[in-house]
Amino acid sequence: MGERRPLRAEIIAIGSELLTPYRVDTNSLWLTEQLNELGIVVRMKAIIGDDLETLVEHIRHALGRADVLIATGGLGPTEDDLTREAFAQALERPLYRDEDLLEQLRRRFQRYGLSMTPNNARQADVISGAHVLDNSVGSAPGLFIEEGTKLVFLLPGPPREMKPMFERHVRPRLAARSSGDRIVRRTLRVAGITESALDDRIAPVYTQYENPATTIISSLAGLEIHLTARARTTEEAERMLDELAVKLEERLGEHLVSRYGESVERVVGKQLTERRLTLAVAESCTGGLIAKRVTDIPGSSHYFVGGIVAYSNEAKVELLGVAEALIRRAGAVSPGVAEAMARGVRERLHADIGIGVTGIAGPSGGTPEKPVGLVYVGLDWKGDIRHKRFHIPGDRERVRELTTLLALDWVRRELLKGV
Ligand code: AMP
Ligand code: MG
Repeated sequence: MGERRPLRAEIIAIGSELLTPYRVDTNSLWLTEQLNELGIVVRMKAIIGDDLETLVEHIRHALGRADVLIATGGLGPTEDDLTREAFAQALERPLYRDEDLLEQLRRRFQRYGLSMTPNNARQADVISGAHVLDNSVGSAPGLFIEEGTKLVFLLPGPPREMKPMFERHVRPRLAARSSGDRIVRRTLRVAGITESALDDRIAPVYTQYENPATTIISSLAGLEIHLTARARTTEEAERMLDELAVKLEERLGEHLVSRYGESVERVVGKQLTERRLTLAVAESCTGGLIAKRVTDIPGSSHYFVGGIVAYSNEAKVELLGVAEALIRRAGAVSPGVAEAMARGVRERLHADIGIGVTGIAGPSGGTPEKPVGLVYVGLDWKGDIRHKRFHIPGDRERVRELTTLLALDWVRRELLKGV
């Protein structure tokens, strides 16, 4: 096809706080996604503290390799904000104080009734030959420098300032320059199947495609199938994704939670809304996690009535009406108790559907008959009461997260049926 190679980008996240255990560089993840969509590949990224010498050295090397260099952070007014200085040195260009910019900064401070301290004037320092990128959200302007054929963007650190500046000033410039393929990703979410069983089912389909590329990712939120397509245009890439996704969906059947990565709680929320049904949950080993996940979704008040965390036997009896004799006979972690919890919460909160969850999250409390990870989920669907038994391997967090997922996924599957 004789097309030009895709542009190569490097990202530099600047700030000493990003080298502590307390702050994570999220800017580069977001930027990578945007760049990929524009057909630009990220070849390297770095996180560098507020140290001039290290910065200058890294920037010099990066300029030797990359077509596009994007730095975020270090554009603030304080002494440790060295990005302008470091790029000026690496590019061997002088810095000058831009009087227009200084005046704009002064007016901005006045408008907010703040007094401008002398160090704020540093934000009006501009690298010779750079274009100033105005900041619609904060005070630190960005800079754009053309160095030969290379494009250099200096953006503010706070994500809420960096993102709008990228959209307004960076994306159009990169789109005009990039001749590379567009890269589009899609996530299919799957639940209720193991990773190996999933792969066994779909490998015959996806191995026939090199593009889109397929990866399976397992996390506490379940399994995700990530598809990445590369094409001349976004539309073409989407069409390629559609073609593969349809074939995969056929193989997945009920196991498919969502076509565009939505969480199971979001899907269940949509189903309940459409069918005008309400949900209530009674939780023991998940300690409110199911209610939390359900209420993570805005608008959940339309279908979620409430949840009861009944951790002790007494609470199960008092709050949910579980028979004391049943707990004594079968134990708190038993099919009957899970069912009684589901029924108790549905009846007491007047919901259409009730879920009850009881299990052994560990690490202690397991026995040979009732090992750690044993979980019973009860479901009361307008008086039709059933249970499922799960044995979930892993630590306490995993048992609780996967119990939440499996319980919600059961509701999703039931809602798929046109009962
Ligand atoms: P700065 O522009 O260096 O003054 O950064 C201001 C704030 O932006 C920092 O304290 C961080 O909270 C945030 N920030 C800076 N760099 C990043 C990054 N790479 N990812 C996420 N947040 C960042
Ligand atoms: Mg900083």
